[in-house]
Amino acid sequence: MSFRDLRGREDLQRHFSQALRAKRLAHAYLFVGPEGVGKRTFAVALARALLCENPPQDTFDACDNCPACRWVDAGTHPDFRYIALPPDKHEFPIELIHEVIRLLGVKPARGRFRVVVLDDADTLNEESANAFLKTLEEPPPASVLILLGTSPDYQLPTIRSRCQVVRFAPLGPEIVADWLRREGLVKSQAEALRIAQLAQGSLKRAQLLAQPEVWTLRQKLYELLHAGAMDAVSLAQEMQRFVESAGQNSAQQRQRAHLVVGFVVELLRNALAVQAGNEPGRELAAAEVSQVRRLAERVPANQLLQALDRCLLADYHIDRRLQLALILEALADSLSTLVTAAISASVS
Ligand SMILES: [Zn+2]
Repeated sequence: MSFRDLRGREDLQRHFSQALRAKRLAHAYLFVGPEGVGKRTFAVALARALLCENPPQDTFDACDNCPACRWVDAGTHPDFRYIALPPDKHEFPIELIHEVIRLLGVKPARGRFRVVVLDDADTLNEESANAFLKTLEEPPPASVLILLGTSPDYQLPTIRSRCQVVRFAPLGPEIVADWLRREGLVKSQAEALRIAQLAQGSLKRAQLLAQPEVWTLRQKLYELLHAGAMDAVSLAQEMQRFVESAGQNSAQQRQRAHLVVGFVVELLRNALAVQAGNEPGRELAAAEVSQVRRLAERVPANQLLQALDRCLLADYHIDRRLQLALILEALADSLSTLVTAAISASVS
């Protein structure tokens, strides 16, 4: 993909264009933002624009047609590499980090730069960070390292302080809705808008929300949580079943786990809003609104806030790649204790 195919990132494109013109391109960037907001797509578009051998005159972009552009797309350009966490690993093997360092240290074979994109940078451990130290302190000329992560907070100071941090804000709902229509993932504009409102600016999340089984799960969660007849085991099972239906792919499992937690967060936040005298969010269906109101009537704010806290912790643990089954079990347990106890207290 080229910059011209991306929407909502014009400011970042301009930023890099100006940096390049002023010869102030950094050697190491840390792209941060939620999953599914286009960090990887942008990083590859940037690599193409930097390596393109016939770039457009009037704008900083790639031509899509020269050998360099085609090689980047095929993953065969000698000056470009995209490296992600191997699917069966929780941390980068140190050999892979040494490979990145070696790649950055070699002179460009064709282009003006050597670009390495390292995905899943949240999982860099201390050993990897230390291995990077020399490369970051004395970057080889013409090398550009782009780390992709969700938050600078997940990086050790050794890395964070030596990278230029570039933040990717969530995409606007209208961009997400347009994308859903273009990809043919929705049947109507109304459906596109509803999903876009729930997608938190993430295309990955929007894509997942376009699947019918997600709505079945959401309905079950709302029913279980507002009713007070919830036992932790069945709640955990519902969540777990949904997460596992992603198959063996751990990234997709994590994405589903985030979505589950997000649904609970949304329910709790809306209940708090109602307690504060506000209207629940417009993204809610009519049945959900009455469930939110019922929850708000019966569970005090203090418990709702504690439950929210547990959700944030679960999100954090998902990003840190802890075992999903354990995270969801712990979350279901806390929710059940907090919500059920409050509801039975309000009934008695
Ligand atoms: Zn080109």
